[in-house]
Amino acid sequence: MISAAPLHCRVCGGPLIEQIPEGDDRERAVCPGCGEIHYINPCLVVGALIEKDDRVLLCRRAIEPAQGLWTPPAGFLEIGESIADGACRETREEALGEVEALAPHSVIDLPHIGQVYYFILAGHVAGEFGAGAESIEVRWFPWPEIPWPELAFPVVDRVLRLRLEDRQLGTCRFHQGTLRFVGEGDRFAAASYRYESAFCHRFEGKTGS
Ligand SMILES: [Zn+2]
Repeated sequence: MISAAPLHCRVCGGPLIEQIPEGDDRERAVCPGCGEIHYINPCLVVGALIEKDDRVLLCRRAIEPAQGLWTPPAGFLEIGESIADGACRETREEALGEVEALAPHSVIDLPHIGQVYYFILAGHVAGEFGAGAESIEVRWFPWPEIPWPELAFPVVDRVLRLRLEDRQLGTCRFHQGTLRFVGEGDRFAAASYRYESAFCHRFEGKTGS
């Protein structure tokens, strides 16, 4: 089965069927009318870790999924944007302030839902932070007071824990890994996932302000 497959062809509008195209090795949504193959590939989600005075900026989500829960600014990368562009735009939309990219932080694969998260460290450059249209409120959390049980997604929990470790070690690190869903637990619970670190590289940089 293809998840979230379109029902109709984007070229001719005809109904689609699931079929393994010639030379391929998996089912795709194929248009028997015009032959168009509708590939479905993972999405890239970009986010910004913004720190100031040993605090990190989190937004309380005004929209589902995870309405009412906390996350750094993050969202789907748009066509035409770089990763840094996207993370800065999401910050503007969700937390109003202008930020600039300082360094990469983490790339985390979520293969069970076909998403890849890319977080950067970003610094405030202009404007006041406040709740954008997709946020109920925006707040600076001191690192010892992160609302762990009220984080929006397991990947947010993982990214913040990685950054907390970096800070405790007094170092900048770039992380790459996979968050694997284990068992049949709650898909929104961090405990239902195992993090498999593929790469963790220390580099010279600002460890946080
Ligand atoms: Zn078609």
